[in-house]
Amino acid sequence: MADKIKTNHLKPPASAAINHDLASLAKDIIASAGVGIYIVQDTRFVYVSELYQKLTGYTDQELLGDNSLKNIHADDREKVRQQAIKCLKKESFEPYEYRFTRKDGELRYILETVTPIMFKGKRATLGSFMDITERKIMEEKYRGILENIQEAYFEVDLNGHCIFFNDSLCRITGYPREELSGASYKNITDEENSRIVFQAFHKVFKTGQPTEGFDWRIKRKDGTQSYIEASVSLQKTASGKPVGFKGIIRDITERKNIEQELQHLATHDTLTGLPNRLMVGQLLDHAIQSAHRYNRQLAVFFVDLDRFKTVNDSLGHDAGDRLLKEVAARLRQSLRHVDVVGRLGGDEFIILIEDFQDVKQLEILAHKILATVMQPMFLLGEECRVTASIGISVFPQHGRDEQSLMKNADIAMYFAKEEGKNNFQFYSENMHAMSSARLAIETNLRHAIERNELYLNYQAQLDFRTNEIAGVEALLRWNNRYLGLVTPTQFIPIAEETGLIVPIGRWVLRTACMQNVAWQKQGLPPVSMAVNLSLRQLMDETFLQDVRDILEETGLAPQLLELEITENMVMHSPARLIPVLTKIKALGVRLAIDDFGTGYSSLAQLKNFPIDSIKVDRSFIRNLPQDRDNKAITEAIINMGRSLNLTVIAEGVETKEQERFLRRKVCDEMQGFYFSKPLEPEQFAELLRQYSLSRKSES
Ligand code: C2E
Ligand code: MG
Ligand code: MG
Repeated sequence: MADKIKTNHLKPPASAAINHDLASLAKDIIASAGVGIYIVQDTRFVYVSELYQKLTGYTDQELLGDNSLKNIHADDREKVRQQAIKCLKKESFEPYEYRFTRKDGELRYILETVTPIMFKGKRATLGSFMDITERKIMEEKYRGILENIQEAYFEVDLNGHCIFFNDSLCRITGYPREELSGASYKNITDEENSRIVFQAFHKVFKTGQPTEGFDWRIKRKDGTQSYIEASVSLQKTASGKPVGFKGIIRDITERKNIEQELQHLATHDTLTGLPNRLMVGQLLDHAIQSAHRYNRQLAVFFVDLDRFKTVNDSLGHDAGDRLLKEVAARLRQSLRHVDVVGRLGGDEFIILIEDFQDVKQLEILAHKILATVMQPMFLLGEECRVTASIGISVFPQHGRDEQSLMKNADIAMYFAKEEGKNNFQFYSENMHAMSSARLAIETNLRHAIERNELYLNYQAQLDFRTNEIAGVEALLRWNNRYLGLVTPTQFIPIAEETGLIVPIGRWVLRTACMQNVAWQKQGLPPVSMAVNLSLRQLMDETFLQDVRDILEETGLAPQLLELEITENMVMHSPARLIPVLTKIKALGVRLAIDDFGTGYSSLAQLKNFPIDSIKVDRSFIRNLPQDRDNKAITEAIINMGRSLNLTVIAEGVETKEQERFLRRKVCDEMQGFYFSKPLEPEQFAELLRQYSLSRKSES
């Protein structure tokens, strides 16, 4: 064959021995490359190498002068012809594939490149002909295997263009095969992820080491996003030259979605969907950093609902949840998009306000929040209103870190509560000392019973008609070893919030009943014993049984016990309270409404409650008889009580004028400093004894 090249076609200059060597070297190269070589001029073979003959099964006699396209598969002939033309025009020298029928009739896959050359002074194409049938078969087989796996397999060239892949890649990306072939990975990746992918590929290229699986977000053809995990390694030729990358891609969208869901759950409150404590902390931290960097202010609003526990205890948890959701939505609506609203738990919400001009703006916002929260809402068919107390701390003056800003907003919120609720307060330094006092109360109150620090005082109630002591109210007192005397108005709200009121209230009830029986045993006339209740106690499941047990234990006649509930308690959720009150009544125990006039109940509503007495709040008595409004109200209450057959007791009677007025208006009983202050048990026994003696001597 080499001879033929020499003699017939290539004809090296005979003179130069070195050229002869080059020719035989070329022959060796051609033979060893495993590539058949041919030269075509005007579509006719003018040269075919030995290997070309072997690969095609035709001899050079058969081929030379014959049409070069003859044995190419009819469907591929045009493609090959076009390639030859492009080659002659020097437009493209890319390798291409076609099918070729060998002399023995077998169809083979050929990979070919053509190069334009001058041959015997005329233009020609030199073809290198490679039989890739085995590889094709392997690939097909391989593809068959690959199609059956969930993972996508891909091969890309060094520029990231897809050259080989299985159908799973189509499934994962949503692109049909034609559109993926030759496409760059950039086509399915956004800019941010393109960078990640490029870096990963680059690292593989530089180190030669495969990647660990890395996550990457893709844009599917339909515009949706998927997450994939890719493992990529370098593809090299046998000689180690990198030619591209190959790898496996797994669709991890579902896992990612679950991860994101979990992330959401971990950082959001499930009830309201607002960021939770964890997330609020992170957001605040972030906001502090940027406020610091840009020299800006930042405000933290600590929003706590007033009397939420009452709603929750009385209307039930479902209603409580609905209320919280509604409040969350209202808070969200009344703020700008950039402001953060989160829920810390319970009825506590946090609002972060970045980027505000001055304190005035915060005040306006706080007013707005109070107003939206206060709008009525319907729960279980009842119109309900809640209010909120807001504490505000501002970065940097009230704290420079997350913890102190939160804590100080919380402290300011407690002051808003102390100020009568439904208002807002900015944090100030002296609040701090006061709030530690609250903490001290809470901690010490936990041990008050076991340390015997609680005791009761008793305040007499005088019957106007008989001028006898008809009853007595038990009033709780607490003398703590560190704090000294703490008043009920200071510690009872804390006991209610912490739930400590339940055991404490039980202790009060038992002690008061025992005392009453003890007085009777001393020979004193029986009096009615009034005991104050908190809503929390009334809602406690064991309450009814406790009352029964205590009556039995102490032996007190039920009709000598009067339980006082405030008007606010009742009006909050009449529907749930009436059954409980009815059961209490059924025990023979009497019921009184305390602090009457301070709630919003209409007098007519009272008919629905199984009560025996009402106690007119002392705020109405205070300015009697001068204050005309209070005069009118008190008179109305007395008349209405009489018409409903209720005992009306005036509270906080301090002066002779008040007593006279009440007597004239035919009020039933009075209680107050004018007649007697709350007394120690022995002092009260003494008062009762003297009074009954003097009454006896009078009669
Ligand atoms: P309350 O049930 O309305 O009790 C009457 C309060 O008025 C008592 O205050 C009493 O000392 C005070 N008071 C009586 N007469 C006069 C007067 O003429 N002038 C003035 N200015 N005040 C008078 P105290 O003992 O400080 O109790 C405050 C509140 O604490 C009570 O109001 C009651 O709501 C609650 N409380 C007291 N003991 C208990 C208890 O054992 N359990 C519960 N849940 N609450 C209690
Ligand atoms: Mg009372
Ligand atoms: Mg009262």
